[in-house]
Amino acid sequence: MLRVTDLAAGYGRTTILQGLSLHVEAGEIVTIIGANGAGKTTLLRAISGLIRPTAGKVELNGERLEGLGPAEIVGRGLIMVPEARQLFPVMTVRDNVLMGCYHPAAREGAAQRMEEVLDLFPRVRERLSQMAGSLSGGEQQMVAIARGLMANPKLLMLDEPSLGLAPIIVQQMFGIVERIAAMGTTVLLVEQKAFHALKIAARAYVIENGQISIENTGPGLLADPHVKTAYLGL
Ligand code: ATP
Repeated sequence: MLRVTDLAAGYGRTTILQGLSLHVEAGEIVTIIGANGAGKTTLLRAISGLIRPTAGKVELNGERLEGLGPAEIVGRGLIMVPEARQLFPVMTVRDNVLMGCYHPAAREGAAQRMEEVLDLFPRVRERLSQMAGSLSGGEQQMVAIARGLMANPKLLMLDEPSLGLAPIIVQQMFGIVERIAAMGTTVLLVEQKAFHALKIAARAYVIENGQISIENTGPGLLADPHVKTAYLGL
C-alpha cells in the first residue's frame, strides 16, 4: 500500500533522512521505533507532504505522492495523527473530531462514520460538549485519533500516541489501535515505547540516524538483542 524508496528529507540545509526505504502492506500494523531525534517525526512529515523530500519516492497504491501538498495527500487517504495531539483547545471535542472531515473527500458518510468512531471511543462520546483543552492527556489522544479516523483513512499514521500516558492508558490505547486495524484501516505507528508497539505489529523497523537499521517481524524485533538493550531496557 505504502512504499517509501531511498527517501531523503530534512530542514533547510540539514539532511535528517537519507536513503530510507520501507513498505506497509494493506491491513498491516507496521511499527517504527527509534530514539529521540532519530527522524521518526521527520519521516511522517515527509510522507504526509508537510516537508518536501529532497530525493526518493513515496507511493500510495502505486501513485507517487512526493511533490503533492498535504491537503492532496489527505485527499488520497493518508492521514497523520501528530505527536502531542495538536487539538484546538478552546473548541469543543465534537468540533475537534469534526475537523477530521474538513477535506471534501471525507465528507460523504461523515455522520455514520462519527457514530462508528464514537463507538470506538465511548469516553470521547461522553465529552463531546466539553472544551478539548480541558480533557486529560489520554482523552486528548483519543480525540486526536478520532479526528484522524473521521478523515476516512486508508492508512493512518500515528506519531507517538503513547506519549505522556499512564501505563494502563497506554495499554488501552494500543488495544484501540489493534481494533482500528481489525476494522480495515492500515496503521503505521511511530513509537519510543517499543514494547507494546512491537507486540501489536505485524512488521517493524528501527530507525537510527535517519536510516532504517533493522527490519523484522514485530516478535522478531522484540527478541532482537540490540533492540532489547537499546529500546526495551532489558
Ligand atoms: P522524538 O522521539 O524526540 O520526537 P524523532 O525521532 O521524532 O524524535 P525528529 O523530530 O524527526 O525526531 O527530529 C530529527 C532531527 O531533526 C532532530 O535532530 C531535530 O532537532 C531535527 N528537527 C526536527 N524538526 C526540525 C525543524 N523544524 N527544523 C530544524 N530541525 C528540525
